[in-house]
Amino acid sequence: MAQIALNHVSKAFNNGSIVAVNDLSLEIEDEEFLVLVGPSGCGKSTTLRMIAGLEDPTGGDISIGTTRVNNLEPRERDIAMVFQNYALYPHMNVRENIGFGLRLSTDLSDADIEERVEDVASLLEIGELLDKKPKSLSGGQQQRVALGRAIVRDPEAFLFDEPLSNLDAKLRKQMRTEISRIQEQLGVTSIYVTHDQEEAMTMGDRIAVMNDGTLQQIGEPNEVYNHPANQFVAGFIGSPSMNTVEAEAVRRDGQTVLESVTSDAFTYDLDATGDTNADLPIEVGDRVTVGVRPEDVVLRAEAAAFEGQHHTTTVDVVEPLGSDNLLYFDVGSRTWTARVSPGFEPESGTSVHFSFPRKALYIFDEEGTTVES
Ligand code: ATP
Repeated sequence: MAQIALNHVSKAFNNGSIVAVNDLSLEIEDEEFLVLVGPSGCGKSTTLRMIAGLEDPTGGDISIGTTRVNNLEPRERDIAMVFQNYALYPHMNVRENIGFGLRLSTDLSDADIEERVEDVASLLEIGELLDKKPKSLSGGQQQRVALGRAIVRDPEAFLFDEPLSNLDAKLRKQMRTEISRIQEQLGVTSIYVTHDQEEAMTMGDRIAVMNDGTLQQIGEPNEVYNHPANQFVAGFIGSPSMNTVEAEAVRRDGQTVLESVTSDAFTYDLDATGDTNADLPIEVGDRVTVGVRPEDVVLRAEAAAFEGQHHTTTVDVVEPLGSDNLLYFDVGSRTWTARVSPGFEPESGTSVHFSFPRKALYIFDEEGTTVES
């Protein structure tokens, strides 16, 4: 299996007026499952298409294994791509659909092809579907057949372009697990494109977060979640999104306090928490963005429940999720979310009180770079 490397790769369209991918460098290790994630239009598919050979980079080098592949045709790259539109051949049964590529591209005997098709069908648990036509299969079964077509070729790498986006939520979750299992079992280097951060978090050995054609951060899911490199990553990874408010660092009574700039609804006394702030690269007068994840917000009906600093707000709305509730409330001009226990369901307009531990605080500088996580 192959390592895949992108070295300062760029792609511009329309004579340079659209920069889809901007100076992207990435290394995908042998047998690794890397997820490329980011919002619509950030350049994920273009990146994948360049690796597949379906688009030519306007700059930089792409290598698969030890070979620079910039000038190789897609079929010479020994990779298999799985798309969301699985495009099975309607007049062929599952057996023929899976074996078709092999018949075209190899000189394997019919018996060998048959054996490989059977092996792949058993890996995907679709052995009993081999004689059926695509139209009699469910969406999930069709996606398995599409996967089978990729696997049977025994490629150096798999490239997945949002393969599950046509499936309903439940099936999508099942197929995520399935794809991860198969990838691990086969040990094939894989790159998986999605705009769904949850899919990225659950599937990737590492995730690469893109925005505006550039790589924002690459790392293991927990690392990216707990230590986002910047405010974009912090907001994109995690659901509901991280709460934020713009603040200014001020000195008050000898203490360093983060004070919201939009209203007096929020102050956070860094020195009152008992934690050291010695290394914090913030000076009085600095504008920062304060971030707190919804699960780290501590929300109580009674102010007396807090020993230290806390803030008072009113409930906008409560959204019951069964396992827990999402409670929305205003902080300055922003709406914040707290994940609270299912029993806690105050009416809209009720006064509530919130705080959060110092260790849950994220601070971003004016450029959006993380200064503390
Ligand atoms: P999505 O999830 O919506 O597919 P993406 O992150 O995969 O988005 P790309 O499809 O790679 O993004 O597109 C990146 C940018 O390049 C977008 O602004 C898109 O409009 C532009 N783009 C992509 N392909 C072309 C093309 N063939 N001609 C012109 N512009 C293109």
